[in-house]
Amino acid sequence: MSAPTKYVYEFAEGSRDMAALLGGKGAGLAEMTRLGLPVPPGFTVTTEACKVYLATGEEPDELGVEAAHALAGLERTMGRTLGAPEDPLLVSVRSGARFSMPGMMETILDIGLNDRSVTGLAKASGQERFAWDSYRRLIQMFGRTVMGVDGELFEQAIAAHKKQRAVATDHELDTGELVKLTDEFKDIIRGETGEEFPQDPTEQLARAIRAVFDSWNGERAHVYRHREHIPEDLGTAVNIQAMVFGNLGPDSGTGVAFTRDPATGESGMYGDYLPDAQGEDVVAGVRDALPLSELKAIAPHTYIELGDHLRALEDHYRDLCDVEFTVERGKLWILQTRVGKRTAEAAFRIAHDLGADGTINADEALIRVDGAALTRLMFPRFDTTPADVPLAHGVPASPGAAVGVAVFDSAEAVRRAALGEHTVLVRRETTPDDLPGMIAAQAVLTSRGGKTSHAAVVARGMGKVCVCGAEALTVDPAGRRFTTESGVVVHEGDTLSVDGTAGTVHVGALPLTASDVGRALETGTSTGPVTDAVLGALTHADSVSRLEVRANADTPEDAARARALGAQGIGLCRTEHMFLGERRALVERMILARDDTARDQALAALLPLQREDFTGILEAMDGLPVTIRLLDPPLHEFLPDRTDLAVRLAAAAHPDPHDRELLHAVERMHEQNPMLGLRGVRLGLAVPGLMAMQVRAVAEAVIGRLGAGGRPRAEIMIPLVGTVEELRLARAEAERVLADVAAETGTTLDCPIGTMIELPRAALTAGRIAQDADFFSFGTNDLTQTTWGLSRDDAEASFFPLYLEKGVFEVSPFESIDQEGVGQLVELAIRAGRAINPRLETGVCGEHGGDPDSIHFFHHAGLDYVSCSPFRIPAARLEAGRAAV
Ligand code: PEP
Ligand code: MG
Repeated sequence: MSAPTKYVYEFAEGSRDMAALLGGKGAGLAEMTRLGLPVPPGFTVTTEACKVYLATGEEPDELGVEAAHALAGLERTMGRTLGAPEDPLLVSVRSGARFSMPGMMETILDIGLNDRSVTGLAKASGQERFAWDSYRRLIQMFGRTVMGVDGELFEQAIAAHKKQRAVATDHELDTGELVKLTDEFKDIIRGETGEEFPQDPTEQLARAIRAVFDSWNGERAHVYRHREHIPEDLGTAVNIQAMVFGNLGPDSGTGVAFTRDPATGESGMYGDYLPDAQGEDVVAGVRDALPLSELKAIAPHTYIELGDHLRALEDHYRDLCDVEFTVERGKLWILQTRVGKRTAEAAFRIAHDLGADGTINADEALIRVDGAALTRLMFPRFDTTPADVPLAHGVPASPGAAVGVAVFDSAEAVRRAALGEHTVLVRRETTPDDLPGMIAAQAVLTSRGGKTSHAAVVARGMGKVCVCGAEALTVDPAGRRFTTESGVVVHEGDTLSVDGTAGTVHVGALPLTASDVGRALETGTSTGPVTDAVLGALTHADSVSRLEVRANADTPEDAARARALGAQGIGLCRTEHMFLGERRALVERMILARDDTARDQALAALLPLQREDFTGILEAMDGLPVTIRLLDPPLHEFLPDRTDLAVRLAAAAHPDPHDRELLHAVERMHEQNPMLGLRGVRLGLAVPGLMAMQVRAVAEAVIGRLGAGGRPRAEIMIPLVGTVEELRLARAEAERVLADVAAETGTTLDCPIGTMIELPRAALTAGRIAQDADFFSFGTNDLTQTTWGLSRDDAEASFFPLYLEKGVFEVSPFESIDQEGVGQLVELAIRAGRAINPRLETGVCGEHGGDPDSIHFFHHAGLDYVSCSPFRIPAARLEAGRAAV
């Protein structure tokens, strides 16, 4: 038979390893008790008891007995009895979940006070006012939290007394007022609930514990857990602790202290102190706290003792710790500790400093930071206050902060950029046509599309701020304005602030803070302790990682930037981005060609332009691999919109014959589901000469670079292959062109040819495909889309919010790889591919290549590299290192 479950632990019985059972706070109290720190004694009711209560609506049978036993022990230790008429023991009852949920659940102080013990407390403390103030606080807190009375009613009663006495603060109410208030509070409770405020201290305690259990399911707590991805079924522990008082006069007080500055990471004791006050006064900001350094003057011995305890805690936890403490008539008590929350800056700096002084080793220092924190450090950001209410929320597609005037088409963004104006490009959704505007604008805002929509992918690639899928906006490009659900109208030229990290849009210009880290990463030069720490962490990450990090880049500028940020090559160069702008006319000519000659002429005109593109990129990435993907998107993306064309033709007095021809082509090529249509390798096989032109451009660029003394390492990648037959045909064509160019120039060309794995069929038949592939690059955007049968362009903005709320997804599968499904296909394809071709190189070039959790998965799956947008490279390097330690 297994041992009966134990639901109550005295602090001395627990330890820091028991956080799942005792909650973070309980485990901290236990650990401090073991370390001999001055912790007011008490006990913890476990999360298991809470789970039973939440499941059944009843506390477990044993809880009452165990809690009574623990309380008796506490009374013995303190030499006082809970709520006794003479010198009563009072306790606090506080929540404490496994993961810190600050302020989300309930706390009740001063349990044990009643009509009789209040006078006992007054006598024992020698302070009548203090005793009555404590009693009214208990009734107020208990009434609100346990008995469900609207807290505003108590506040109104206090306000009335203050008004009557013409005083500004609670502090100025005298004992007589407090005695009256206490009676009024009891009347409020009776009036609201039909029940008396309970006088029995053990009833108070039992009901307070239950209220803390209940607060696990409070609205605030739910919302917080959802945002922080904290599981719903953990439950909270409850800590019952002897009360100590910081409000007994000038030699008492309360405060919060950190072993280092949690905002900057700077070493040295840091915090706030409030003389003659209780902990909740600090939190509520009722009075301005003093900097902790002032405690040194007020109570030098206490200050030194606190410093000793903080050092002991940091040595013990080997990390930044924070404590809440109280000084009761000159005696220091530590009420709580935890490994403290910190900003991204502080996280890097503290890990670095603890590593430098040998407290932790370099691997541990690397584990203490993460890619998300690094990303936050890289983007300029807004300095917002809660008063800055957003105009709209959307998908935070590409982080950062940008301010600019609203523009509604690409041309206007370009025009204003030429005048030096900052703009926000607002579209329903973007198409490749919008690229110039996206480049010109400071931010992109769309009302449709998710994290892998065109706007999102391209913006991220450029490190451009983007919020997409802000569905509350009705965008009216013709009227050059958008309207929000609440009726606010924003016109072209109005200033907007777009927060791509939070996914919000504000009217007007919010203040911006620039990022030193972003600059330091590009230049490699440190400008202070935080940049030092970031560069140090990346150096260590690079030295331990197994996964390489390449970039998704398709311009020489992006390639150079990616290289500066540490890219070890290009894993995906999307060639379609090179077919826009003025080249579009040539692409149109190729598509509209009536015969081979016309098509060949159009292709011949494109050839030197493509060659130039590749030359620049190969130069920027000299000596490193550059994976060039042959044209992938459906051709109609290069033609005008069907409706626009039809309208233009209908409206024209003399319709342009070229427009008519274009419309026919658009109609001919129209597909209901273009993502599953004539694209990828299918296009290469169906449009004569297209693939040959692209391969020739690559080959000639390589030869040019060789002639210039470079070390070009181009690789050719065939997209959207579903069967080995497709790859064989495409490969044969590519090899023929490579051989032709080699023969023409008398050079040997070593150009690996590989394929993307982005269809389930490709993954399932990877063994066969590997016979003809030098490498696999997993296109996990399409692989996710095709495995799930989810449109990457539509799904995120439509039902994803519902799915996330209902817990069908914890995170969008387009953002973080679905390890169970899509991930299985990746693993299977790697295994099968390598079994046939042991030298097969494998990488990922979908958006998941820059996602921290996905990177850890890819590391364990055995991939050789991940490839991501230039801006995500530092974070990816960091995570590749973290995955390896
Ligand atoms: C992919 O599908 O994951 C990929 C990288 O290709 P694209 O996003 O260009 O379709
Ligand atoms: Mg793809």
